[in-house]
Amino acid sequence: MIVIKSSQEIELMRKAGKVNAEIFEGLRTFVKPGITTLDIDKYVEEVIKKRGMIAAEKGYCGFPASVCTSVNDEVVHGIPSKDRVLLDGDIVSVDLVVQYQGYMADSCRTFGVGSISGQAQKLIDTAEKSFFEGIKYAKEGYRLFDISHRIQEVVEGEGFGVIRDYTGHGIGTEMHEDPAIPNYGKAGKGPRLQKGMTLAIEPMIVEHSYETETLLNNWTVVTEDGGLAAHYENTLAITDGEPDILTI
Ligand code: MG
Repeated sequence: MIVIKSSQEIELMRKAGKVNAEIFEGLRTFVKPGITTLDIDKYVEEVIKKRGMIAAEKGYCGFPASVCTSVNDEVVHGIPSKDRVLLDGDIVSVDLVVQYQGYMADSCRTFGVGSISGQAQKLIDTAEKSFFEGIKYAKEGYRLFDISHRIQEVVEGEGFGVIRDYTGHGIGTEMHEDPAIPNYGKAGKGPRLQKGMTLAIEPMIVEHSYETETLLNNWTVVTEDGGLAAHYENTLAITDGEPDILTI
């Protein structure tokens, strides 16, 4: 069941989402060669606490940290660690859920560490571009997979792959609500979009094959072929006009 939110509920999600945006702004200079992924976790936790909010990922299904940090061939759900030192040329996806008065905002960015390859930069840029192309269809009256289809078209058009095993999702008082939002699909299919739906749209894209596997820690998802992965996500509300992005 897709839960429609009132404008008051959407405002609470926006308040949380402002903290997501603040954190990513800060991480643009914080992420550099020599820091660890645990340093990112501490940074994120501190800002969220300072704003009086909650890092919703901590403890979610037993997740041990405040944020997911996925490096290079890690697609999603990487666990911050003091032993994972970021090196020049790495890329790291930071996926973050902030909770305020019970309402959540979910977003992700992939950062280059120091100087990265042209291919890595293209992958990061394509994830972002596919999001903004996809949300041209995130309006009342379109169907959900119109968004999915456009994301797939943009990503594959650049010669990259779209992850199949993980999708975007509705969000609100729960981190994962209906509907699931695949980053691939047929235009004209899926639920019809309605004002007040709040969706986390998140292209997860890879250099080559979209096949994934989960490491023995039961969390970290990597590409099976070792290719790089990038991830771009925002939470938005459907309106009768342009989508209202809550995490920018
Ligand atoms: Mg997320």
